[in-house]
Amino acid sequence: QAKAQGQNHYHFFSEALQEQVELRLSHEQAVRRVVQDKRLSLVYQPQINVQTGQAVSIEALLRWPDDDSLGLSPAQFIPIMEDTGLIEQVGIWVVEQAAEQILALGHQIGRPIRVAVNVSMRQLYDERFFDQVTEVLRRTGLPADQLELELTESVLMDDPGRTRDTLEAFRRLGVSIAIDDFGTGYSSLSYLRRLPVNVLKIDRSFVVEIGHNPESESILHSLINLAGALGLRVVAEGVEHPHEHAFLRQAGCDELQGYHLCKPMSMANLTDWLHRQGDG
Ligand code: C2E
Ligand code: MG
Ligand code: MG
Ligand code: MG
Repeated sequence: QAKAQGQNHYHFFSEALQEQVELRLSHEQAVRRVVQDKRLSLVYQPQINVQTGQAVSIEALLRWPDDDSLGLSPAQFIPIMEDTGLIEQVGIWVVEQAAEQILALGHQIGRPIRVAVNVSMRQLYDERFFDQVTEVLRRTGLPADQLELELTESVLMDDPGRTRDTLEAFRRLGVSIAIDDFGTGYSSLSYLRRLPVNVLKIDRSFVVEIGHNPESESILHSLINLAGALGLRVVAEGVEHPHEHAFLRQAGCDELQGYHLCKPMSMANLTDWLHRQGDG
């Protein structure tokens, strides 16, 4: 009896596992298909200067095709692209597409605007990446100082020596480097100071604590002060409420990003939004 039950359990477990494996395989196939058919698109979310209210940078974010029933989120399809090695080819497409679109936007509104692009570890470790980005800048005409690369702490800490060379090369070009999701990893600011980084993006998990957790508020204050002392620009991510906005402004944050200010939008909608803001 016990043995039979055990077998049942095993059977049940393997079926669940089987299902997971099949789901993953079907997602993987879907991702390959969507990449091959070039059906991915970008949406754009501004980073707003706290003092002027102006959109100074715009982050490009990948989106699954609207007309595809699977409706995968970046949290689902980016890891698949990273595992399958599709991220290198998609990643450079993102840089190129974003550069072209933001350059055109800048011409339309009559002022230069910076574009921020997310970069995965695999991309940064790809020897071709630096040359490909340089080539995109040359081809599109986007000035290097209008490009910002967002890397997570884990990418920066994984192999700091190897990372530093690549990042320094980008810095020499004039490209800025941002640490995304800051506070979720284990790195210290004093350590990060040794890496060529110019922007700190404070993770949303700190922002949601504003008004609820005095300890997190103290951490935010010291993070923002320390970053300022180190000459880093500080951006807060995921600002959803007016009280968060008010706190971050008072704390001395440079730029804010989040649904409270502006959701990620198509380039057409973003252009309208900027015009309504009195931009251009
Ligand atoms: P991330 O770079 O930290 O981007 C911020 C995420 O927060 C985005 O999610 C954005 O849509 C969302 N967000 C913005 N404002 C708010 C807010 O007020 N509240 C909440 N709850 N969320 C907000 P998204 O677009 O789903 O992207 C998730 C992650 O996928 C990104 O996190 C980034 O790590 C990755 N990703 C997106 N596009 C790319 C890409 O082109 N290349 C790479 N390598 N990764 C990408
Ligand atoms: Mg980002
Ligand atoms: Mg982030
Ligand atoms: Mg993130």
